Amino acid sequence: MLNLDFCKKLNDFLGIVPASISSFYRTVERNQAVGGSSNSAHLHGVAADLILDTGVNIESAIWHAKDLKFHGIEYDSRNRHLHLDDHPSGRIWHVIIKPDGMQLSIDRWKSEQV
Ligand SMILES: [Zn+2]
Repeated sequence: MLNLDFCKKLNDFLGIVPASISSFYRTVERNQAVGGSSNSAHLHGVAADLILDTGVNIESAIWHAKDLKFHGIEYDSRNRHLHLDDHPSGRIWHVIIKPDGMQLSIDRWKSEQV
């Protein structure tokens, strides 16, 4: 089921940052098929995976995501993939995966992971 608050934030984000949605709400079966974690926010309809358009400035995109108060922000620079979520656990995490696969944590986990 989709979450209207999350949809509103995603709508606001996409009004600023041009991107395509590659994944949103997932059923348990779909989540397993794509290798998602068993407690994925996608299962709750509060996560979206985006492919940023060519030319989008990633620092600006992440700034907008933080400004909109998405709880989970993960950007993989290898494929311009941006995951945004509002996990129901309330966990806050921001990660950038660099071209060499190393992870750069912007903020520490601020609440317990579930
Ligand atoms: Zn995702």
